[in-house]
Amino acid sequence: MRAILFPSLAADAAHDAAHEVHRRFRHGAYSVDCSECHVKAGVLCLGRRTVHTARRELYRQKTADTTLVPLLLGRAR
Ligand SMILES: [Zn+2]
Repeated sequence: MRAILFPSLAADAAHDAAHEVHRRFRHGAYSVDCSECHVKAGVLCLGRRTVHTARRELYRQKTADTTLVPLLLGRAR
């Protein structure tokens, strides 16, 4: 509870760093363009420290398309 009300500077920096690493290497939601604020893949969403829900959805769909289908095709052989 206290951590939420008074976030430490270290946790703050860690959070920023985590977003930065994901952005730089285009991990997760950062691997797709955002349909909400129209930033390209590898660019942070315009809302600070948020990844728009629509973008997360896009990423989820993309991973479902690229990982699930080959698995199903491999099984069909
Ligand atoms: Zn966005």
